[in-house]
Amino acid sequence: MKTQLQNEKTIKNERIIIQFKSEKTGPTLVFFGGVHGNETAGIQALLKLKKLLSTHKKYLQGSIYGIVGNIKGVEQNKRFIDEDLNRMFTKKNVLSFQEKKHQEFNNEQLEQQQLLNCITTILSQNKGPFYFIDFHTTSSKTLPFITINDALINRWFAKCFPVPVVLGIEEYLEGPLLSYINQLGYVSLGFESGQHEEVEAVKNAYAFCCLSLVFSGIIDQKYLTNFENELSVLKKHNGGLKNTFEVVYRYSIQENEIFKMLPNFRSFQSINKGDNLAISGNQTISSPYSGLIFMPLYQTQGTDGFFIIRAIPKFLLKLSSILRKLKVESLLVILPGINRDKNDRETLIVNLKIARFLAKPLFHLLGYRSKTINQNRLLLQNRERVAQTASYAQTYWYKKRNS
Ligand SMILES: [Zn+2]
Repeated sequence: MKTQLQNEKTIKNERIIIQFKSEKTGPTLVFFGGVHGNETAGIQALLKLKKLLSTHKKYLQGSIYGIVGNIKGVEQNKRFIDEDLNRMFTKKNVLSFQEKKHQEFNNEQLEQQQLLNCITTILSQNKGPFYFIDFHTTSSKTLPFITINDALINRWFAKCFPVPVVLGIEEYLEGPLLSYINQLGYVSLGFESGQHEEVEAVKNAYAFCCLSLVFSGIIDQKYLTNFENELSVLKKHNGGLKNTFEVVYRYSIQENEIFKMLPNFRSFQSINKGDNLAISGNQTISSPYSGLIFMPLYQTQGTDGFFIIRAIPKFLLKLSSILRKLKVESLLVILPGINRDKNDRETLIVNLKIARFLAKPLFHLLGYRSKTINQNRLLLQNRERVAQTASYAQTYWYKKRNS
């Protein structure tokens, strides 16, 4: 494996900064940092983790990897060089690599292909259960938080960490790395550790690394002497928020649009419907909803102006767990206007002309995330059907949540 992965180092810097396999078998934990090149807190945390691993070798069971996402982006401290790497992991894109020649690749296509090779190699040469964690930071001030695709295994693992969890962002974004891994069925969490340049972002990311070692079962808590300390780092920075939130709105910046957030918004700040949030050209953009503002954009690269999120009531989270375990979703196809996609068993096609009485929240509850194709058609993708749930059945967090 070593040679194969080392061959990936075509660009000056290292792609794989941590590669550890213990003699005892155990879970596999894969960290990504710098998928956005200007977000290096995760990489700094991984370099620190590397030192910790070297002094704790005898207590570790399983495999750990630390992978740099956009090497050239990191070198130039840019979110990306040619296109946003974290919007390229669509099925279509991944498949099209087979037909393209290397010389035709732009920087991110090259980086993406190498990342895909790493992931394939890791999956083929290690035992599950697999955990994938992708470190990011934001341009605005923020509390540390987790983002996940809404599958129960993600929710339950995410709940081990004392930070807010935001789900459903994949409904608004095309092709993030974690959605791709999630579609393969593995636990995959995004961790946004703070604002790009602040020291706390590195501390939070490092704390997250250490807690992940314990929660995935790679090290027993009693051998990790800094465990309590790292737990308190996240507790101190979480602003008292431990809820689960759902994205209800995304402001999408159009090509050639001149967009500017009004100053001093921070993620998780309350806003009311009608509050002025940004300026586009010479027009003021006000909030279409009340809720919490999320990831307001304070940098030039990127097309997500801001998001709005709302807390999901606890009873709804519980209800959706029950309905999903009962596989109630399989009954949806009985309803008029809903059909299973012949080419993809995990996907439902909703004809909105017929099934317009069904609302998005119902689909969410049952584990579907929707993508609007056009006025009359909605595509629903089920996160639970693809989840490799059985491979996590013996973990302590799964047993605890599933009881
Ligand atoms: Zn990012």
